[in-house]
Amino acid sequence: MERLESDILILGAGGAGLCAALHAADRAPAPRIAVAVKGLLGRAGCTRMVQGGYNAVLAPPDSLEAHFRDTLEGGGWINDQELVWRLVETAPRRLVELENRYGCFFDRTPEGRIHQKPFAGQSHDRTVHKGDLTGIEIMNRLAEQVWTRPAIQVLEEHRAVELLQDDAGRLAGAVLLDLRSGRFVDARARATLLAMGGGPTMYRVIACSADKAADGIALAFRAGAPLRDMEMVQFHPTGLVVPGSLMTGALLEEGLRGAGGRLYNAAGERYMARHDPVRLERSTRDVVARASFLEIVEGRGTAEGGVWLDAAHLGADFVERHFRGMVRRCRDFGFDLARRPVPVMPTAHFLMGGIVVDPDCRAGLEGCFVAGEDAGGVHGANRLGGNGVAESTVFGGIAGDVMADWVIGRPLPAVSERAAAAVVARVTAPLGRGTRDEVAPLRRRLRDLMWDEVGLVRTEAGLEAARGELDELAARLDRIAVPGGPEYNLAWQAWLDTRSQTLAARLIARSALERRESRGSHHRADHPARDDARGLVAVHVGRRADGIAVWTVPVALTRARPSAPATPAAVEVGD
Ligand SMILES: Cc1cc2nc3c(=O)[nH]c(=O)nc-3n(C[C@H](O)[C@H](O)[C@H](O)COP(=O)(O)OP(=O)(O)OC[C@H]3O[C@@H](n4cnc5c(N)ncnc54)[C@H](O)[C@@H]3O)c2cc1C
Repeated sequence: MERLESDILILGAGGAGLCAALHAADRAPAPRIAVAVKGLLGRAGCTRMVQGGYNAVLAPPDSLEAHFRDTLEGGGWINDQELVWRLVETAPRRLVELENRYGCFFDRTPEGRIHQKPFAGQSHDRTVHKGDLTGIEIMNRLAEQVWTRPAIQVLEEHRAVELLQDDAGRLAGAVLLDLRSGRFVDARARATLLAMGGGPTMYRVIACSADKAADGIALAFRAGAPLRDMEMVQFHPTGLVVPGSLMTGALLEEGLRGAGGRLYNAAGERYMARHDPVRLERSTRDVVARASFLEIVEGRGTAEGGVWLDAAHLGADFVERHFRGMVRRCRDFGFDLARRPVPVMPTAHFLMGGIVVDPDCRAGLEGCFVAGEDAGGVHGANRLGGNGVAESTVFGGIAGDVMADWVIGRPLPAVSERAAAAVVARVTAPLGRGTRDEVAPLRRRLRDLMWDEVGLVRTEAGLEAARGELDELAARLDRIAVPGGPEYNLAWQAWLDTRSQTLAARLIARSALERRESRGSHHRADHPARDDARGLVAVHVGRRADGIAVWTVPVALTRARPSAPATPAAVEVGD
């Protein structure tokens, strides 16, 4: 097995991983940094897919306090308030840095100021963007910058399969798999950053990058790090419906609703008037997604199982100018977004839950740092649009700074080579083994089960049934055979993906059973009301000898307290 030694090992190269690498490389003295990414640098993950934009407070009448409060209201008040404050106070600085230091250029108003557009759940227009393809601008510039820093070694198509720990549990790096050659790398480091981007890819319909498999969640859990809010899975309301195509679930961005796009059921009824008469389509994602889901399952959807998103009344010129990417995407599938309604449905989009961290990105294991979607606590029960890429770049940068200082003078934790060899033996076990099970049907069952029983509307009975079946799926995966050898073996990669997704799914189902109320994206049909007397807690999960330990931790209301629950603030934007 090849051996690689660095000061800092970064797993994942989205907004979080790349900002961490750049910040660490620009500290003095510059540490040696290795970035391992499952795909190609700048091309993999969800940051590149960011459409709508980046939330940052730039000028009055907006304020840090307003951004802070909007994020807590959106998150159902179970967010970690210290993380939220760190996010909102750092986001303006990071945005300026993206332009002035790394070379991004965002859209301007006619007066030359950075343009900010309305997004749902915000009390001011706050979302900075580059048309409706903001992520491509950010990722291209960050990746270019990374290639120019000699301190950063990039390992493309290298997948982290397990974390390495010494006897005291300290993190010492990870075992990587080179996807092309099938060879393993024993990658040792003083500090390791998990930035693998979470990802609810264990659901039937998804918006996020299919290269993500919740690996960061699975690796952290197996290493013994506690996680929180895993029941909080965000479904975006407007995923395209393209019958018979894997493109079903691909996103139409929130700015369309912010600009006045309307939702109709098959009977032509603007149903958001029943579900949120004040905010209508500009209600938060959890509310709109659930409303659309209920329209569909209660029989008021289209024949293909969707509802209609209509932007035609905004004017074809306006839609074509402001939503070029969306118009093009719809046209590829025969839809004319600028002139006619387009069929949409909810789509699994984002994991609010993740690894417990402090505002300096430290996780509960020494030497382990986490940033971006792998971390929990920033978004609480529901992420506001525009806060995701802000989170990954803000906390990625913080992690880079903190790790670069932290590694100075620290020894590498001692781990025997046998530990890495044991990992290799575990993950190669299915190659050439003989059983009748195959990965594909198990993965299909996982996705259907999660969609039907652990999706937008949940019940105790459904969650209990899912819990039992998920345990069985996990056991079957452990016995399964995968044909072929280790070189570029997609079936084996699918097995590794499904293994991580099934473990993350078990954490989601277990946490969802624990939260006996409805809040944000977590809706229990058997407990439909929000219960602030018992629900202002974070559900935590962690590893224990016989499986999953679950416990609750009261939310520390360190900076603000909830006002009257569920009082939606009117959004002051033109229709
Ligand atoms: C379609 C879409 C549109 C979005 N639009 C917006 C928006 O407008 N505004 C907003 O704020 N947010 C938006 N988001 C959310 C936003 O993309 C995420 O919040 C953010 O980009 C996550 O950044 P990250 O760095 O944590 O993860 P990612 O950018 O997803 O990067 C994860 C990285 O980890 C790598 N990886 C995964 N597993 C492994 C492994 N085992 N080993 C090595 N590498 C691994 C991946 O290849 C990738 O490089 C959108 C998301 C999607 C899917």
